[in-house]
Amino acid sequence: MLPKYKRILLKLSGESLMGDKSFGFDTRVLSQYAQDIKSITELGVQVAVVIGGGNIYRGMNEAETGIERAHGDYMGMLATVINGMALQAALEKIGVYTRLQSAIKMEQIAEPYIRRRSIRHLEKGRVVIFGAGTGNPYFTTDTAGSLRAIEIKADVIMKGTRVDGIYTADPEKDPTATKYGIITYQECITQKLNVMDMTAFTLCMENSLPIVVFDMNKPGNLRRVATGEKVGTLVRG
Ligand code: UDP
Repeated sequence: MLPKYKRILLKLSGESLMGDKSFGFDTRVLSQYAQDIKSITELGVQVAVVIGGGNIYRGMNEAETGIERAHGDYMGMLATVINGMALQAALEKIGVYTRLQSAIKMEQIAEPYIRRRSIRHLEKGRVVIFGAGTGNPYFTTDTAGSLRAIEIKADVIMKGTRVDGIYTADPEKDPTATKYGIITYQECITQKLNVMDMTAFTLCMENSLPIVVFDMNKPGNLRRVATGEKVGTLVRG
């Protein structure tokens, strides 16, 4: 089967790693994600991953934690490295070669982020996991995903979530909500659809990087998206 995309950036939220738990990660979810990623590398798709940290720590809530925003954000970035290491272990366990690159230097466990080097890894068929977000506070891992996707010239950013696409309204609250198959960046803005935070979304729009939002928790879905099946919602210009 021929893949639709040659190089993808997969954005996984930290929260989705929790499965049914309320904190941390569920090893079953990690191994499902690893299997799904493996299945598309076998099609020849080059895969880079940006992983969130919300299952461990989110820095944004200064009022609640009493921890200064920037300080908490660095803690959040470290959380993404833990998740990156967990995904790396799950992938290597099933024979997928990986490299973890961190936007914050931690030489003992990850390579520093070097754009050209990450591209080289991808060309060699290794899955590259980007940890520590952008390396800067006041950003999110969605923004890190858009940024890295553009830097490595990915064909698409695939945002794996727990819902199967973008809806006209919140499907959990409004039973009449319907799912978009394809939608433009502009329509998302006018209809105030929360696909990603604004910084991340604008980066995609300005650089004409398509976004696919899909349910990553359904085994096989990643492969379906990668081979061009109509799964999830495609956002484009
Ligand atoms: N973060 C940051 N800069 C970045 C990426 C992440 O400061 O470039 C921090 C921020 O505090 C964020 C946390 O890391 O809340 C975890 O990332 P995120 O909330 O994006 O994870 P997700 O929602 O995908 O689980």
